Amino acid sequence: MTTTELLQYDRDHLWHPYTSTIDPLPVYPVSKAEGVTITLADGRELIDGMSSWWAAVHGYNHPVLNAAAKAQLDKMSHIMFGGFTHEPAVELAAKLLPLLPPSLEKIFLADSGSVAVEVTLKMAIQYWQSKGIPGKHTFATIRSGYHGDTWHAMSVCDPVTGMHGIFSGSLPIQYFIPQPSVRFGEEWREEAMAPLRDLLERHADEIAALILEPVVQGAGGMYFYSPTFLVRARELCDRYNVLLIFDEIATGFGRTGKLFAWEHAGVEPDIMCIGKALTGGYLTLSATITTKPIADTICSGEAGCFMHGPTFMGNPLACAIASASISLLIASHWQEKVKLIEEQLRAELAPAAKLPEVAEVRVLGAIGVIEMKHPVNMAVLQRRFVEEGIWVRPFGRLVYLMPPFVISTYELSRLTSGLLRVLTHN
Ligand code: PLP
Repeated sequence: MTTTELLQYDRDHLWHPYTSTIDPLPVYPVSKAEGVTITLADGRELIDGMSSWWAAVHGYNHPVLNAAAKAQLDKMSHIMFGGFTHEPAVELAAKLLPLLPPSLEKIFLADSGSVAVEVTLKMAIQYWQSKGIPGKHTFATIRSGYHGDTWHAMSVCDPVTGMHGIFSGSLPIQYFIPQPSVRFGEEWREEAMAPLRDLLERHADEIAALILEPVVQGAGGMYFYSPTFLVRARELCDRYNVLLIFDEIATGFGRTGKLFAWEHAGVEPDIMCIGKALTGGYLTLSATITTKPIADTICSGEAGCFMHGPTFMGNPLACAIASASISLLIASHWQEKVKLIEEQLRAELAPAAKLPEVAEVRVLGAIGVIEMKHPVNMAVLQRRFVEEGIWVRPFGRLVYLMPPFVISTYELSRLTSGLLRVLTHN
């Protein structure tokens, strides 16, 4: 197939994320990716600023992850998890659990981030049912959050920028509180807890859990808020008998400067879900982790078990790669690396704040965000970024960088300077 034929077939038959089939935005055929370099079919090379949506923390085509994948392929790529277990799953759990909040010790492996979110919500519902309190069946969350595209995950995404409008009438109605008003690094103001306190005071008897992205809200707005909010939210959830769920699918594995974002606050959730960088961006895999008391309560209820069991649960190939990715990360001085990326992003993105179209520049860990005053023209910007030899994919008013941690100082400068050039001359 020539590149022209490939593009034509793609345009005629393939659906891309959030993309029209009538008038699709251009897509760029990729032939390979290695380290932080993405090579297009025509030979052009792009420096990756996206880590394939927060996932590829070690860059692409990594020899250690490749070796783990190949070794596992020669044994078995998949076997059902019902009635079987295997070394890759057990080894992964044994590597993961010591890195997670100490009270979490029961791990449910699933396919994608959205499914992990569904699993957290189902766990919370089954927990209250098993306790004989079935009236607690709605969820509380924060505006501008993003938790995935499946049904209940969608219902806890931001009601305005999410998909509530389109699916209204079908989506379950949840309770939303405003974004925490105290930003990351700002002095704490106690009044920031008023909306959550008011909500729980009035509706705790209906609310199964509060679900949120700790410290960094990702795809819903790239907003960084005070970790003290999590400390106070934990206190309120305990007081009002509401479970606390941390969605660390985007924040996990070092991206915010801590291995997991809960560490900024030091408070433990009742249920936590992770995904994305779990396999270093190689394969889709997620995990939902909870405490033994919650798991035991669920399993002592009417069903006698947790009612979920995906076909590809505990996929050995994904688990083997995830194990290798975690070992690689832990051995990699990731914390120093993320700190350096943070400092460089802060210094090199700062000039963007002076551009007339820019509302704000903010940086935390290996996340650099330029918030524009108006939504960007994605097709035009995407083309300009590719002309600059960088891969950046903005959405709405947000133009942001989340490079793989292995990026060099020089490569990161090429990303930031290319980005600034495009925003300045656009
Ligand atoms: N939760 C958060 C915080 C996310 O950022 C995402 C994806 O961006 C998801 C859940 C959904 O994950 P997936 O796209 O793997 O279904």
